[in-house]
Amino acid sequence: MTADTARTVPDEHRAEVERLREHLCALHAELPRWKLVTWTSGNVSARVPGADLMVIKPSGVSYDDLAPADMVVCDLDGRVVEGGRSPSSDTASHAHVYRARPDVGGVAHTHSAYATAWAARGEPIPCVITAMADEFGGDIPVGPFALIGGDEIGRAVVATLRGHRSPAVLMRGHGVFTVGASARAAVKAAVMCEDVARTVHIARQGGPLERLPQEHIDALHDRYQNVYGQ
Ligand SMILES: [Zn+2]
Repeated sequence: MTADTARTVPDEHRAEVERLREHLCALHAELPRWKLVTWTSGNVSARVPGADLMVIKPSGVSYDDLAPADMVVCDLDGRVVEGGRSPSSDTASHAHVYRARPDVGGVAHTHSAYATAWAARGEPIPCVITAMADEFGGDIPVGPFALIGGDEIGRAVVATLRGHRSPAVLMRGHGVFTVGASARAAVKAAVMCEDVARTVHIARQGGPLERLPQEHIDALHDRYQNVYGQ
């Protein structure tokens, strides 16, 4: 038996893979809905729980044309296990994040305009509003420039997020990568990242910004993560 023929979706994960194909297709529709992507840019992936597998967007397919069957199943080395299309060019980086961060169940990537403008300047977004303290627990950090195609971006995402509570990182000169316990949480972080990037950008046009006191950031983050909601 060759290594290649061993790379199939095991029967016990079949139902979950099919559910994730549908779920990811619906989540990808959120990206244009929140105006986070242009043309085919951006992608979302989800880990298959309990398996060394992930499901990810195919490369270069229009958001309007995406169907559950188009999603590509890869192993955590980024190799295709199942799917008729090539996976996203960021697949190796998503795979690296899942290997390095067992707590991560979903990864999202966009070039959303305001957040990417901060990334173009290589400037972290300072935590100056409660919405940032809630979702990000502090500044949204900047990672180094890394070329697309291999796992360099994934390595830089993991290294930059170490020591931050933020689930989002601005990759210098590129865009936003977010992580979450689920793919939905990663997409939510991408939506919130663009929202606060826009607000803080607008605020700065009117004068200097003042970061919230650390004790308030800590209290807000704790309340939002542990108490807020139903
Ligand atoms: Zn990109």
